[in-house]
Amino acid sequence: MSPFELLTPETVDEAIAELRSADDPRPAVLAGGTDLLLDIEDGRTAPARVVSLRRLPWRTLDWVGGALSVGSTLSLRSLEADPAVRERLPGLWEAIHAVGSVALRHRATLGGNLGRAAPASDLVPMLLALDAEVELVGPGGVRRTPVDAFVRASRRTALGPAELIRGIRIPEARPSAYRWQRVRPANDISQIAVAAAFSPSRRSWSVAVGGMPPRPILLPEVARDLGPGAPNEPARRSACARASREVAIAADQRASEEYRRRLIGTLLDRAIRAVTIAGEGRP
Ligand SMILES: Cc1cc2nc3c(=O)[nH]c(=O)nc-3n(C[C@H](O)[C@H](O)[C@H](O)COP(=O)(O)OP(=O)(O)OC[C@H]3O[C@@H](n4cnc5c(N)ncnc54)[C@H](O)[C@@H]3O)c2cc1C
Repeated sequence: MSPFELLTPETVDEAIAELRSADDPRPAVLAGGTDLLLDIEDGRTAPARVVSLRRLPWRTLDWVGGALSVGSTLSLRSLEADPAVRERLPGLWEAIHAVGSVALRHRATLGGNLGRAAPASDLVPMLLALDAEVELVGPGGVRRTPVDAFVRASRRTALGPAELIRGIRIPEARPSAYRWQRVRPANDISQIAVAAAFSPSRRSWSVAVGGMPPRPILLPEVARDLGPGAPNEPARRSACARASREVAIAADQRASEEYRRRLIGTLLDRAIRAVTIAGEGRP
């Protein structure tokens, strides 16, 4: 592993100052380190300075008026262990549960998953379907942006040069489900995944697909096919058929286009059924 200077700022202002003051290239930001430290060890990146976020007060979880706010450095395991998360946002719980292993989830964070913006991220598709917002803090103050605008492409985000992800906000509890396919159930990466959620306030569905390049995406037309409540069988079939037929599916080393195309409809069908069964026919 190439040597680096580890900085452990105690305040957000100090962390931002470290990011601003550094020469080019900017220092790396370290949360749980499950992605970054492997990259350094394997020589994919060799930062001279690393800014650790571990002393910042961002390991938080708050429910306010039905909305969930999560600090960016809270471990995925802490989120997974919260009974309210499982009860009110079952799809988020399922997506978190899909990440790596228990040991990994003790270190990995939501901020790190978004910061990485991996095409096969399990959390980005679910956050898209839940209309989540990313809260960023930088030299210009705080700004909020939808996850859909934040994740731009494979490993590219809308993060400014001296900005940090402070937290993630999910606006309301939603019946939701996350279904994925991978070669091995644990410590593997999804070949394709589908997130579905029903918004009780808007009476509408959101559907997102992930697991393939270039990035997880929302499927608004598929969601529209599902209508304003529990879909009947023809509506459900039509949405699943549209997903298999029309979604731009990519091939990569983990799965062929044909394999993913066949699976997307099946996974969507399972996700919709999970949401409607949990709501006893009413999402
Ligand atoms: C064995 C193994 C299995 C895995 N399995 C899965 C899986 O099944 N599903 C899945 O989705 N992922 C998986 N991952 C990837 C990884 O664990 C997740 O992406 C994790 O959530 C990253 O969080 P972290 O805190 O460890 O990030 P870090 O490694 O600390 O950071 C990741 C990136 O985000 C940036 N970053 C981190 N926090 C912030 C912040 N607050 N503000 C700005 N930038 C920030 C860092 O600079 C870095 O570029 C796996 C990784 C390993 C090693």
